[in-house]
Amino acid sequence: MLSFGLVRNLSGGMKTIPLAKLVSFLNRELRLSEFPKDESANGLQVEGSAMVHKIGLAVDACDHVFQTAADKKIGLLIVHHGLIWGGIRSVSGVMRKRIGALLDADISLYACHLPLDWHPDYGNNVQLLKVLAIKRMGEFGEYHGKTIGYWGSLTKELSLKDFIGRVDKTLNTRSTALSFGKKVKKVGVVSGGGWSAIYDAEKTGIDTLLVGEPSHSAYTLAEEMKLNVVFAGHYATETLGVKAVGSMLTKKFGIKTEFIDHPTGL
Ligand SMILES: [Zn+2]
Repeated sequence: MLSFGLVRNLSGGMKTIPLAKLVSFLNRELRLSEFPKDESANGLQVEGSAMVHKIGLAVDACDHVFQTAADKKIGLLIVHHGLIWGGIRSVSGVMRKRIGALLDADISLYACHLPLDWHPDYGNNVQLLKVLAIKRMGEFGEYHGKTIGYWGSLTKELSLKDFIGRVDKTLNTRSTALSFGKKVKKVGVVSGGGWSAIYDAEKTGIDTLLVGEPSHSAYTLAEEMKLNVVFAGHYATETLGVKAVGSMLTKKFGIKTEFIDHPTGL
């Protein structure tokens, strides 16, 4: 911590940290180099002010989040879904407005996609197990050559209805579900559009797969594999990772962080 060149913010007790220090720390801590095949250009996507006194966390990089971040005087915004996927073909239309909003407010944008689904400490999937009181047992669900999901065990078997009740209450969501399994005990978790982990779920002996976004294609597979699949919402399954990164940064650097909620209901 001492090597990070912390500076006292004159306006209050919280710290001001150089952007470059935060970015190199995040790149390492979030282990971006382990995901070379991610379509998301993970890391710093837009460079704003060289010094950061407040960090914002959000799921999606979009105008609403950028305007809120500007109002809240946020210097660095860390998101799960960034602006740059693959590369930039043109900066026009929505992309021009979005990048313009960031540059006007001098806000830096940092994206962390697959590494933040998978990460063993801050990742969406591990955090989902934690808040749902599912004991972590192992990894499953290969995606782009990396296992990004986790599975675990409930202390006691639940009915699917009771399990969905727990998910909806904890994540403040309204799940839809496919009910082809008998019980809920061994649960696999893959946030977002993770339903294709259903093949690995079957191989791993999981009875219930919890993912984000609903998929029509999952229905007949779940039917024939005799699995339960719970779709808790893409957004609702992906807020925990960025929040965990925010808490870690406050603890490590003493910097102010704030989660900007912009639920899609999807
Ligand atoms: Zn996602």
